[in-house]
Amino acid sequence: MRAVFSSDKPGKVVELINVEKPTKIGDDEVLVKTLYCSLCHSDLSSAKGEWGSKVYRSVGHESVGEVVEVGAKVSDLKVGDYVAGPAGLRGACGECKYCKRGEEVFCDEVIFTGARGYGTMQDYTVEKAKFSIKLPKDVNLPQACIITCAGITVYKGFKLANPIAGDTVAIFGIGGLGNVAIEYAKNVFGMKVIAVGSNEGSLQIAKEKGADLVINWKTQDVDKMIQDFTNNQGLDLAMVTSSTLPQFEMAYRNLGKIGKLCSIGLPVGKLPVDILDVTLGQKTVYGSLIGTRQDLIESLQALYDKKVNPDLRVEPIEKAEEFFELMDQNKLHQRIVFDLTK
Ligand SMILES: [Zn+2]
Ligand SMILES: [Zn+2]
Repeated sequence: MRAVFSSDKPGKVVELINVEKPTKIGDDEVLVKTLYCSLCHSDLSSAKGEWGSKVYRSVGHESVGEVVEVGAKVSDLKVGDYVAGPAGLRGACGECKYCKRGEEVFCDEVIFTGARGYGTMQDYTVEKAKFSIKLPKDVNLPQACIITCAGITVYKGFKLANPIAGDTVAIFGIGGLGNVAIEYAKNVFGMKVIAVGSNEGSLQIAKEKGADLVINWKTQDVDKMIQDFTNNQGLDLAMVTSSTLPQFEMAYRNLGKIGKLCSIGLPVGKLPVDILDVTLGQKTVYGSLIGTRQDLIESLQALYDKKVNPDLRVEPIEKAEEFFELMDQNKLHQRIVFDLTK
């Protein structure tokens, strides 16, 4: 079967190679034929070994597939079902304090695709049945891939803020995550949306996605525009999807009273906050990391209800090497979903 592996070859980030198809599944597992798998920046970081020592294995964590075999004790899935899992999350104990409070991403025994030894950018994978969420048959499968990572991530970030319809959120960073975030904020949570980015093309897309105000932070006065838009009340919520430190600083200083800053980006650095301001303004700074199975079910519902409509381009899996290269060179400005059906 085909698999996209991290590569050591000069000039190559990944390689499409042939590996043996898995044959053994456990009683609580299913064998899944991958149908589509989208390319995420995390795949590139993992293939390059940016998060520690480089491991030679398949990448991929944003996929949908079809169940082709079920283990002896699997009762809620059958052959032919379409399934997807939360980005990279492929197992949790169900017993620890994090699992019990509905935060299985932080489970003491959590299993991510990387740790289990293979990703999902390959023809077949063995999955825990309980971590395979069943999808309706008429779902747009490539779009569902995007929801399993970008969608669930921003959805969970908003959910943790517990916003009220009419609240104003500013989304800093209008890339793949930011675009999906605009649709969730507007169409699922009923918020007013300010999109803050620096690329004119992305800001145009943000407008088309429904942003009420778009700001180019490199050429415009962000603080003044946010204060004008909010009648000097400041933001109820700021979500930072970018990994640019100045955007975190901008986000924090534009929070209003009881404002919250949700960090999704991963810049290396520190965010200085004035403790007096935090206390007197009852402000919150929090992080959000992907989401749970329940978050995936909820974020997929928005796709079924046509409240979110992720942009993407489908490409054959044979072009994986090419698109990893483009991403590595910062030349990829579209979300790519690899087709493994052919
Ligand atoms: Zn991802
Ligand atoms: Zn646990």
